[in-house]
Amino acid sequence: MKATLAPSSLISLPRHKVSSLRSPSLLLQSQRPSSALMTTTTASRGSVAVTAAATSSVEALREGIAEFYNETSGLWEEIWGDHMHHGFYDPDSSVQLSDSGHREAQIRMIEESLRFAGVTEEEKKIKRVVDVGCGIGGSSRYIASKFGAECIGITLSPVQAKRANDLAAAQSLSHKVSFQVADALEQPFEDGIFDLVWSMESGEHMPDKAKFVKELVRVAAPGGRIIIVTWCHRNLSPGEEALQPWEQNLLDRICKTFYLPAWCSTSDYVDLLQSLSLQDIKCADWSENVAPFWPAVIRTALTWRGLVSLLRSGMKSIKGALTMPLMIEGYKKGVIKFGIITCQKPL
Ligand code: SAH
Repeated sequence: MKATLAPSSLISLPRHKVSSLRSPSLLLQSQRPSSALMTTTTASRGSVAVTAAATSSVEALREGIAEFYNETSGLWEEIWGDHMHHGFYDPDSSVQLSDSGHREAQIRMIEESLRFAGVTEEEKKIKRVVDVGCGIGGSSRYIASKFGAECIGITLSPVQAKRANDLAAAQSLSHKVSFQVADALEQPFEDGIFDLVWSMESGEHMPDKAKFVKELVRVAAPGGRIIIVTWCHRNLSPGEEALQPWEQNLLDRICKTFYLPAWCSTSDYVDLLQSLSLQDIKCADWSENVAPFWPAVIRTALTWRGLVSLLRSGMKSIKGALTMPLMIEGYKKGVIKFGIITCQKPL
């Protein structure tokens, strides 16, 4: 799909060549944090055949993610609206919320994330925002309206980019927000132009976390804020090299359906940010605050309307629905953590 750019000051560059996904076969094979975090090349031992296979597996991942969201976004929007992320709830809130209660919780997730990162107090400084892994643009439109900022979103899914632009037009926001198909790992933007770099539940799809974080830092303006809200695995204990086999097995089963090639922990993200000398690094575990979310999604899927829409939507949606109980199990057993990690790029 043709990229669309509205805000004039957000300069789009031609997509540059893939330079950093040099060892993707390794990155995709393993969900162990050590390899998930690596950008380093294996060229010294790599043959042409290995490189070709590696490139095609990264390509296959991108295509898989694009197809997944092409197929499932309409269903999600129909039932849940334009935010494709968890809601933020008070811990131990046992009340069964109405649909609107869950939508409010999704908005609250955005608000709590901005507050946690200290952006709420600095909102006048936020003029340009990039929404990395934008879905159908719910965060972009919300943040653009809240701050009066220009916002540009990127997604791998052409269906999402089109829908996001259509919704922006319908809300008379096209002069402020726009969406295009682009890869978070090779963003089509100049260095240092965004006051806020926002990644809401997209990091879990990235096969190379180091490259992902480097790209977020590259496009952030000096003094800009970076917010990553993402699915993680638990932090490893001191001396622990990897997750337990049963834990890895549970994650692997979720990975296949949701295209999550390389889980890591919030500590791994913090280490990456520290290695890049970022400032004001903060992280939190919000797993308890998102606990009511997946049970609510499953309840809606099990209504008559939910089931009919699911069947109409296709196999990827059905597989997604069948995988949801594993997410609940992962949270309950403490393997999956819902993390926020933020920092500031030095001036
Ligand atoms: N942030 C949105 C959507 C979350 S769903 C929201 O909160 O509503 C995950 C999103 O990440 C999808 O839009 C998907 O296309 C995007 N994504 C995953 N991998 C990506 C990549 N490598 N580059 C760009 N977007 C990616």
